[in-house]
Amino acid sequence: MKLGVFIERDGVLNLVRIERQHQVSPLTLEEFHVKMDAVPLLKKLKAAGLTLIATTNQPGISRGYQNRREMDRMHELLRRLLPIDDIMVCPHDETDRCPCRKPQPGLLVEAAFKWKLDLDRSFVISDKWQDAEAARTAGCTSLLIESPWLGKVHRDFVLPDLGAIVDKILHLQTAGRAMVA
Ligand SMILES: [Zn+2]
Repeated sequence: MKLGVFIERDGVLNLVRIERQHQVSPLTLEEFHVKMDAVPLLKKLKAAGLTLIATTNQPGISRGYQNRREMDRMHELLRRLLPIDDIMVCPHDETDRCPCRKPQPGLLVEAAFKWKLDLDRSFVISDKWQDAEAARTAGCTSLLIESPWLGKVHRDFVLPDLGAIVDKILHLQTAGRAMVA
C-alpha cells in the first residue's frame, strides 16, 4: 500500500482572506491565488513516492454561494500549478450531517480507498484543528503549521512552516521504512 499526504487546501495551498479572525475561502478563479512557494516542497514529497491529496470543506456549495463550476476552474488551476494527485471536496453544510465534513475523517477514508493508501502510515498537513482531528480519527500522523486556528485537539507535530513539515515527513518516512526493513 502507498502512503498519502493529505493537505488542507485553504491557507496551505492557496491564500485566504482573514475576516473577524476567520479564514474566508476564495469563491472565484480571480480570487484564487495559489501559493507558488509550495511547488518545490510538494515536488520533494512526490519524489519520495508519496501520493498527494488536497482536501477542502466547501460548505458554500451546499449553502449556495460557491458556484460548483467556478470551484472546478479553481481546482483545474491548482492541479496545473501543483504536483497533486487528487482534490477531495466536502460540499456540505454542518446541518447536512455528512461523514466527510472535516473534522470528520470521510474525505481521508474515501481517498484511501480510491488510491489504496495506508492511513496508519499517512500524513495530514494543515493550519487548522479540524484536520488534526480528522487525522486522529483516521489514524494518520498530523503536522500543523503554527496559526491562530490550531485549537486544543490532539496533534502530532506543530512546526513553523510548510518547509519544516515536509522535512519532518521525509524524515519520519525514512525512519518508518528502516523500522519495517
Ligand atoms: Zn460532506
